[in-house]
Amino acid sequence: MPAPNIEAIVNLSKRRGFVFPASDIYGGLGSSWDYGPLGVELANNIKKSWWNWMVYERDDIEGLDSSIIQNRLVWKYSGHETTFSDPLVDCRECNSRLREDKLERDANGKPICSNCGSTNLTESRPFNLMFRTTIGAVSSDEDESALAYLRPETAQGIFINFANVLNTSRRKLPFGIAQIGKAFRNEVTPGNFIFRTREFEQMELEYFCRKIEAPEIFDSLLDEYQKWLEGLGISPENFYRYEVPKEELAHYSIRTVDLMYRFFPERKDTGGNEWDEIMGIANRTDFDLRSHSKKPENEEGKRINPDSTEDLSYFDEATKERFYPYVVEPSVGVNRTLLAVMMDAYTERTNDKGETRVILKLKPELAPIKVAVLPLAKNKPEIVETARKIKRDLQPSMRAVYDDTGGIGKLYARQDEIGTPFCVTVDHESLDDNAVTVRDRDTWEQERISVDSLKEYLKKKL
Ligand code: ATP
Repeated sequence: MPAPNIEAIVNLSKRRGFVFPASDIYGGLGSSWDYGPLGVELANNIKKSWWNWMVYERDDIEGLDSSIIQNRLVWKYSGHETTFSDPLVDCRECNSRLREDKLERDANGKPICSNCGSTNLTESRPFNLMFRTTIGAVSSDEDESALAYLRPETAQGIFINFANVLNTSRRKLPFGIAQIGKAFRNEVTPGNFIFRTREFEQMELEYFCRKIEAPEIFDSLLDEYQKWLEGLGISPENFYRYEVPKEELAHYSIRTVDLMYRFFPERKDTGGNEWDEIMGIANRTDFDLRSHSKKPENEEGKRINPDSTEDLSYFDEATKERFYPYVVEPSVGVNRTLLAVMMDAYTERTNDKGETRVILKLKPELAPIKVAVLPLAKNKPEIVETARKIKRDLQPSMRAVYDDTGGIGKLYARQDEIGTPFCVTVDHESLDDNAVTVRDRDTWEQERISVDSLKEYLKKKL
């Protein structure tokens, strides 16, 4: 049984140190979160899994890490300056500021305030989501020549580096460029814990191909992504695919599918929408490479982009044709993936004393800590020293911790809650038989293993 709601994950996160409210000692900062000792490990393991899968295991992908702040012209020609906005309305009754396209409607189709239920709302107006900043020592924040943005997606950093990567890696179509990094959006209504924040992290792939190849690549990447997410422990029944209707497509896309996860299982009982997006995949056509290129002209023979110094077209040796490649873009959020992984791994189990315990059944690959070494008696120096030594011996091969801050039952419960797959207990007998007890998180079964073969045993299990 996965988590009953996001709230269960919020509580666990705060209690055990996965995620904390940001700026908490100053009253917080709306919908900003800091990743604690366990959260940073889990997020890193998710990113590592994606990078291994994308960049190392496949043969057709290169990695990249581009700047968060780019020349403003990047966002002019990508279309973000004019079109990257959400429809904003104000409620005249309670003064809430709302995103019009996310509101429920009354019988006449009028949007209803999600805060007070009124339909007395202002006309909707576009609100640009890009965070603005200024570069250098400028006289005023209004100085247009110094204006810059924090990137709202990592993708544009890939497009503007297309020729650099192509020429230095000597790639031929089709191939992709992968990037992990922060993105920033001044969301009108952030919320639901780490689901929607103004600062978040994306794992994006821009896959460059011929126009004719794009539809098939789209379908197979979507299947592969869902399989990767399932490999992180998310059950297939908690996914569904939403084919975005033509009229809702972004300006660059001719097809988008959102992969939805059951982030709100509790809404089932209220007839509400249980699903929201964990990732999206789009056929961006040749829009981006074309609009960042210096050559394309409009009907009047004028350059569409008079600022670019580069042509991002591709020359196909086989057909002797030059063209702008199509792009298939799967984009998945680190934070939403982490939330889904935690929700799906969340389990409750009652022990023989009738106490309900939380067990986070994370895949060992993702678990922040792989093994906890626990001394049964912390006032016995030989036991403590043996346990510490075992921890030191394991550490180079796997993330291991030593913990003696409570009784053994409490220590087990703590490790179960944070998803540690194995606990190793050192007891009095260990000093004689040079063996320890290994306890499995999911079955609570215990096995006696000799210290000499412990590392190999755990490695195999992990
Ligand atoms: P939404 O419709 O939920 O606003 P989107 O369609 O604008 O999302 P994309 O532009 O497709 O999102 O971004 C790709 C991925 O980045 C999303 O699937 C999601 O995982 C993540 N993402 C986007 N916006 C946010 C956010 N504000 N907070 C956390 N993750 C986000």
